[in-house]
Amino acid sequence: MIAMCFILPSKVDPLVNLMKVEKVPDSTYDMIGGLDQQIKEIKEVIELPIKHPELFESLGIAQPKGVLLYGPPGTGKTLLARAVAHHTDCTFIRVSGSELVQKYIGEGSRMVRELFVMAREHAPSIIFMDEIDSIGSARMESGTGNGDSEVQRTMLELLNQLDGFEASNKIKVLMATNRIDILDQALLRPGRIDRKIEFPNPNEESRFDILKIHSRKMNLMRGIDLKKIAEKMSGASGAELKAVCTEAGMFALRERRVHVTQEDFEMAVAKVMKKETEKNMSLRKLWK
Ligand code: ATP
Repeated sequence: MIAMCFILPSKVDPLVNLMKVEKVPDSTYDMIGGLDQQIKEIKEVIELPIKHPELFESLGIAQPKGVLLYGPPGTGKTLLARAVAHHTDCTFIRVSGSELVQKYIGEGSRMVRELFVMAREHAPSIIFMDEIDSIGSARMESGTGNGDSEVQRTMLELLNQLDGFEASNKIKVLMATNRIDILDQALLRPGRIDRKIEFPNPNEESRFDILKIHSRKMNLMRGIDLKKIAEKMSGASGAELKAVCTEAGMFALRERRVHVTQEDFEMAVAKVMKKETEKNMSLRKLWK
């Protein structure tokens, strides 16, 4: 008889799946269009204390522990967080708040503890928690169900960790949300994440900047008028502007052309903006 033996795969620690660790990300400030004010603020709150802790010490003031980035989807919150990690030579540890409470039921608070342990091990490091409203939403206060109390425990552990770590330990916490309106104010108390930076959708000038950044490496037809494209995209996010550049390239590719034309861009705008209106329409129907 042939004995068959299978080796079971070794158990993968859920931490590995949850946390995306990047040893110094490759994004830089010059990849960001508009957002000059936001870059200035984040430099002051995150970069300055990491690079020059002595300034805070000599003044006798506590360093900020972190900052909340808020605004609509696709406005560059993650991009700026990665860039600040790049410019400060920090390890970037990214965790999604919604994954934390949906995928790792029962383990949320352990995960939060491990997150801070990991940040300490990799210091200097930046913890980036996306969709923080999934954990820290004010609605939880009145919640009773099991799911809710689990989320509450995760949130309490998070507050605990925020209170417990020393800001001078070269760990900074960046949180991001699209829903600041439902965020639990406990997170924003002094000594926790007491700074916030708003990320609005870009204005026309910033839209033009973002288009220029994302078409930098594209083979554009001479005389292309990106300003005109920026004008047409009122209300669009940075992510949509990026999508327009990619779509324009796709139109050229489909016709086997090596140059991207103004018309490609016009068609791309129509396509991307149409998708956006459809999304809004279906949302509106949903709320009816
Ligand atoms: P979400 O709230 O959905 O997580 P976000 O604000 O974190 O969104 P990002 O992930 O930073 O958005 O942006 C998505 C993509 O859009 C990025 O890959 C980036 O290339 C592009 N983008 C967004 N804003 C800008 C900007 N200001 N300049 C250049 N590119 C941008």
